[in-house]
Amino acid sequence: MFTAFLIKYAEIGIKGKNRYLFEDALVQQIKYALKKCEGEFKIHKTQGRIFVDALTEFDFDETVENLQKVFGISGICPVVSMEDEGFEKLCENVLKYIDDVYPDKNMTFKVHARRARKNFPKDSMTINMEMGEAILKAYPEMHVDVHKPEMLLNIEIREKIYIYSMIIPGPGGMPVGTGGKAMLLLSGGIDSPVAGYMIAKRGVKIDAVYFHAPPYTSDRAKQKVVDLARLVSKYTGPIYLHVINFTDIQLYIYENCPHEELTIIMRRYMMRIAETIAKQTDCLGLITGESIGQVASQTMASLVATNEVCELPVYRPLIGFDKQEIVEISEKIGTFETSILPYEDCCTIFVAKHPVTKPNVKVIRKHEQNLEEKIDELVKTALETDELIVVS
Ligand code: ATP
Ligand code: MG
Repeated sequence: MFTAFLIKYAEIGIKGKNRYLFEDALVQQIKYALKKCEGEFKIHKTQGRIFVDALTEFDFDETVENLQKVFGISGICPVVSMEDEGFEKLCENVLKYIDDVYPDKNMTFKVHARRARKNFPKDSMTINMEMGEAILKAYPEMHVDVHKPEMLLNIEIREKIYIYSMIIPGPGGMPVGTGGKAMLLLSGGIDSPVAGYMIAKRGVKIDAVYFHAPPYTSDRAKQKVVDLARLVSKYTGPIYLHVINFTDIQLYIYENCPHEELTIIMRRYMMRIAETIAKQTDCLGLITGESIGQVASQTMASLVATNEVCELPVYRPLIGFDKQEIVEISEKIGTFETSILPYEDCCTIFVAKHPVTKPNVKVIRKHEQNLEEKIDELVKTALETDELIVVS
């Protein structure tokens, strides 16, 4: 029965001349999200509203599910739209709408008309009153409540007439693309996909980098990261995933540095390489899934050591979250099941029995000097052999 959706978005931050940027980005993201759906849609803006009109048959649940992944949408209203064929026909359609959507009519309601097309013969107040009366007459179980109605029946008079009363919650946030771009360090774990999701929710486009270490990490481990990127891309749009071969760098560190500092030094090289790619691709920050104290490499002291090699800001949206809270978000966004697949990641192979939890930055820097001879060359090769996978 529904033939369109009215898209509601939060008004915060979109005043003045930023408004059209916000709306255009939202329209782009809606188009991307609906490409995967059955049916054809026309997305258009009119007077501060975005409508998604269905041009063909479509799958209601699938369409709503995809719209619920578009950041910037605060609510999705399924709409019945019709041509203007006079007030009587409108009444008829409204009564049918109520009957279809609310089989149980024991509820309070209020009519809220909006006459955006001023040549419609009745003004909004008159429509509210006359439509209210028609509803009360047809369905005596219903009662008017102008303050807290259980059903707020919206009637918008435009070129066409739109009727809607339901709001399905959207994901909130800002449309991806309105907030610049950042480079996500994406591993196969639970945390980093959630971190990417959270920054993207603020309107930031995401690129990603994955460090793999063949043959210590398998192709399946890499495929898992590609799969995770694909799941995140349902929210963010296409992701450019850089796969960096990290094996030689890891082995070189392993051979030349104290084993208890291996993880920290490795993480510093990941950050350096990620930042180099980030700068080449116009990213304005890095994103990691770190959370204070979760593991030895995420103590405050360890974070000092990994942070100091970067100039760009490093966004750590999970920094204050417990594991359980992160798990809940990963379940909600659909990455959890993939994240817990048992393939090794490159950090687990080389971990020391007793990694430092309070690394001293001066000591770390000193030990990194052991790498002087070959490390620049190895980093250069790693960057040159960057494998770019466009995930969508
Ligand atoms: P995750 O669940 O995201 O894997 P984690 O709890 O395993 O995190 P670490 O292994 O210490 O934590 O990694 C911390 C962060 O460093 C990750 O959240 C991720 O952003 C980044 N990272 C770790 N390993 C890799 C990798 N192989 N490729 C890219 N980024 C990585
Ligand atoms: Mg990990």
